[in-house]
Amino acid sequence: MKNQTDAFDERLTSIPDLRGSLLKLFPTKGGVPEVVWDISQTQEIFFTRSKAGVFRGLLAQRGEHSSDKVVLLIQGKITDFLIDLRSERKDLGSMQVRKMDGSVPIAIFVLDYYAHGYYVHEEATVMYLYSNVHCQDCEVVKGNNRVIPKLGIPIDTWIVSKKDRDAFSESI
Ligand SMILES: [Zn+2]
Repeated sequence: MKNQTDAFDERLTSIPDLRGSLLKLFPTKGGVPEVVWDISQTQEIFFTRSKAGVFRGLLAQRGEHSSDKVVLLIQGKITDFLIDLRSERKDLGSMQVRKMDGSVPIAIFVLDYYAHGYYVHEEATVMYLYSNVHCQDCEVVKGNNRVIPKLGIPIDTWIVSKKDRDAFSESI
């Protein structure tokens, strides 16, 4: 990625017509990419679908298969969370929180040292592009405990994996 300093967003332009809309993920102008992600660096593309009430915990893929990623909400409504994991940073663990709606296409570009996760308010499909192979052995879950006070939704109603549930007790 060109920007090696932070996680950031890129508002994508959806072009509507009477049938629906067209959304280009990697538009070019005169052969020059208009977004920062170099599509040739993409190793894997996959989607998750999640019911309302699902919390997908804050993951980063680090180590041998360290991966940058692009996250795009295709449809649904979520609250999105990002945490910077770099230990040398004073703002370690500072969390970015925001509500997202799939009708407003925004791609989030995340370097490997950001953990990303989300809570689903309305059934959601999320697309991921990875710059390395997706490897569950290299996934770290960090900061799930920080989400609880931000959401204000009783945790016993959340639908979570065992791995995410176990990570609630780890502090960051
Ligand atoms: Zn790995």
